[in-house]
Amino acid sequence: MKLIDSIVAEAASIAQIRKDIHAHPELCFEEVRTADLVAAKLTEWGIPIHRGLGTTGVVGIVHGKDGGASGLAVGLRADIDALPMQESNTFDHASRHAGKMHACGHDGHTAMLLAAAKHFSKFRDFDGTVYLIFQPAEEGGGGAREMIKDGLFEKFPMQAVFGMHNWPGMAAGNMAVSSGPVMASSNDFKITITGKGGHGAMPHMGNDPVPIACQIVTAFQTIITRNKKPLDTGVISVTMIHGGEANNVIPDRVELQGTVRTFNTEVLDLIEARMRQVAEGCCAMNNAKCDFHFNRNYPATVNSAPEAAFARQVMVDILGEDRVKAQEPTMGAEDFSFMLQAKPGAYCFIANGEGDHRAIGHGGGPCTLHNPSYDFNDDLIPLGATYWVELATKWLAQAKK
Ligand SMILES: [Zn+2]
Ligand SMILES: [Zn+2]
Repeated sequence: MKLIDSIVAEAASIAQIRKDIHAHPELCFEEVRTADLVAAKLTEWGIPIHRGLGTTGVVGIVHGKDGGASGLAVGLRADIDALPMQESNTFDHASRHAGKMHACGHDGHTAMLLAAAKHFSKFRDFDGTVYLIFQPAEEGGGGAREMIKDGLFEKFPMQAVFGMHNWPGMAAGNMAVSSGPVMASSNDFKITITGKGGHGAMPHMGNDPVPIACQIVTAFQTIITRNKKPLDTGVISVTMIHGGEANNVIPDRVELQGTVRTFNTEVLDLIEARMRQVAEGCCAMNNAKCDFHFNRNYPATVNSAPEAAFARQVMVDILGEDRVKAQEPTMGAEDFSFMLQAKPGAYCFIANGEGDHRAIGHGGGPCTLHNPSYDFNDDLIPLGATYWVELATKWLAQAKK
């Protein structure tokens, strides 16, 4: 593994920053302390910053040897927010904020980009500009979308943008990237079926919404198996069914909620349209009222082929062929997708290991993302930061040709 010496030398001090961020998790758009810390470090290292995009976003601006005169620029993005959940770890750097936790490793993403920033600030061994994008509110808030709305790509014109997520369960020292869709679009729905309530013993006097809800849930599954092409990917999960309060009372209404995941807009258009037809049709057939709401949240994360191939080669140069894997697409979602809709780029995975990096005293359970005993693996910091530095440096060099 060809790690950059100066990054390896700084890794322990960066790990301390990572642990500090872990101990002070902040939720979507509330990352004030985290943003202050990032801004203070970048300023300390002589990197000019811009604050406030997407509320708490921080952009560090690193010009190369040419002072940025070439006009070439590349963006590297780390998310900085935590999750609304209780940490079960008992190590020293466990969350000090009840009900908040860095269970997705965004503390580590922030640290890896800071490690790269520190290296850039010392060496500036490239022509062009590297934009260090510290983005808030990945966990449902669409912080990437908000930074773009606030002018991220106008204020900081760049030709490509890259992202990275740690991946538990993959052996540490591996990375993965592929072209095309790597994470799904995330969409949610809420359907209210209104019938007529009454006595549970006299259903003929009312109009029971419960069997109508059951028909709808079952019929939705035929959209996946009968309407979309078998080779297209799509998920409909009805995850909430709310109705009724007593075992002898037929309720007036039942509410269904859930999530829909796809890899492209055509399949999403089909699923949404069919869900509406099915829900409204089932209600009409049963003389009930249907309110159908469908909300598109994050689009699919789609890596552009040249940038994914470029990122892969950078990984191979650092790790060797054997340690660079194909990126198995997941139906999870990621708001870096908004940046990839605006610019070419690639979103990759860096292996977080099997969980054996966690200190004694961690909670039970596997070390998956969003698990209460999760912890970012600090051993990744040198590799993640080396990848960022090599990627940006080589990308700017090839763009100049
Ligand atoms: Zn997450
Ligand atoms: Zn995450």
